[in-house]
Amino acid sequence: MSFRDDLAAASEWVASYVETIGERPVVSEVSPGEIRAKLPSAPPDKAEPFADVLRDFDEVIVPGLTLWNHPRFFAFFANTGSEPGILAELLTAALNVNAMSWLTSPAATELEQLTLDWLAQLLGLPAGLHGHIEDTASTSTLAALAAARALRPGGAVYASEQSHFSVEKAVRLLDLELRKVPVDDEFRMLPDFPLDDATAVVATVGTTSSTSVDPVRRLAERCNQAGVWLHVDAAYAGSAAVCPEFRWCLDGVEEADSIVVNPHKWLFTPIDCSTLWTRRPDALRDAFAAHGDYLPSREGAVDFRDHGPALGRRFRALKLWTVLRCYGREGLQESIREHVRQAALFEEWVRAEPAWEISAPRHFSTVCFRHQSADNDEIARAATATGRIFVATTRLRGQSVIRLAIGNGWTQEADVREAWEVLRECVR
Ligand code: PLP
Repeated sequence: MSFRDDLAAASEWVASYVETIGERPVVSEVSPGEIRAKLPSAPPDKAEPFADVLRDFDEVIVPGLTLWNHPRFFAFFANTGSEPGILAELLTAALNVNAMSWLTSPAATELEQLTLDWLAQLLGLPAGLHGHIEDTASTSTLAALAAARALRPGGAVYASEQSHFSVEKAVRLLDLELRKVPVDDEFRMLPDFPLDDATAVVATVGTTSSTSVDPVRRLAERCNQAGVWLHVDAAYAGSAAVCPEFRWCLDGVEEADSIVVNPHKWLFTPIDCSTLWTRRPDALRDAFAAHGDYLPSREGAVDFRDHGPALGRRFRALKLWTVLRCYGREGLQESIREHVRQAALFEEWVRAEPAWEISAPRHFSTVCFRHQSADNDEIARAATATGRIFVATTRLRGQSVIRLAIGNGWTQEADVREAWEVLRECVR
């Protein structure tokens, strides 16, 4: 078989997977070690045909996966490896360029600059920010806090008790001290804590458990007065700002020093793709620029390796650019609005049903709710075990609550309705 034939077979597999994904179980019911036991324990001595690999992939690997691209994946933050994203990943793999510096792939760097400018416009971010792509929000936040530390070493980082643990990890790596700030009754950071010894503050727009939105403007005012770096973690909810009616969530962000949004969460781009903007790129360079005689630079060109921890960088801009082009502003808005509409509908069903309650204000496409008397962890576990939906739980005010996170581009109202049916069946 030629590469061309193998490529056709792989494309055929992908096309039928995308067409029929909703018919598969979302979560695999395998036991630990089961998949490994089905595969040879030693590598092959002789080259095997790709067709054999594709067969094992289809028969052994895929049935052992949790299908994140499934329209009834409602756990964590649902995401989408959309058709344009899949196609662009194929092209990226074929090129296999390394976007570590301008010289090593000029178009990769320039497309990354352009795409980040486009996305900043789509989200209504201020003009003139410096943007680049990291693999994940964890790395973006690490980079932002390293930049903050370059300006103000040795202090504390303040983040709400609802902030994502990526903040805690970054703080540990940077040998700073994390101070967790309490939240109000809607899980928003209380903004009036002392800032004297602060290196940075992290505000979250769309916290992981409840999608609460910290008061960015108030925090920005205080940070600017005190000369403290404000980083905004909008990994999930930032994407909502493609719709003007959700821009409120980024109010004040123009006064922040950095902001991260993950297109690989709610902007239809395959994992991994995390976009980080800053108005202080010099501080990122202070934290990360390094010289190696083996790596030349071009005068006047941007080398993204100087803005984050990694040297080797995938050409991630290609998939984001492709998604932005193939959806267009209107397509992105339509998809985000549809997810929020579905979430609002689900919220109504929960509110209308005795014995169920909403556990946190719903701002976007994620609904936190609970059954008042049954074991909510058990409901989520049983619902997921049906293979029909995947939901997860979190804890709010010491209670276990179920989260329905809508964010997959193929999710229809019927899928959300099915989730509600399955959950109620599980209680019965
Ligand atoms: N920040 C928030 C608010 C998140 O919800 C998450 C993950 O869900 C992250 C950061 C970390 O994202 P990543 O997996 O891209 O590191």
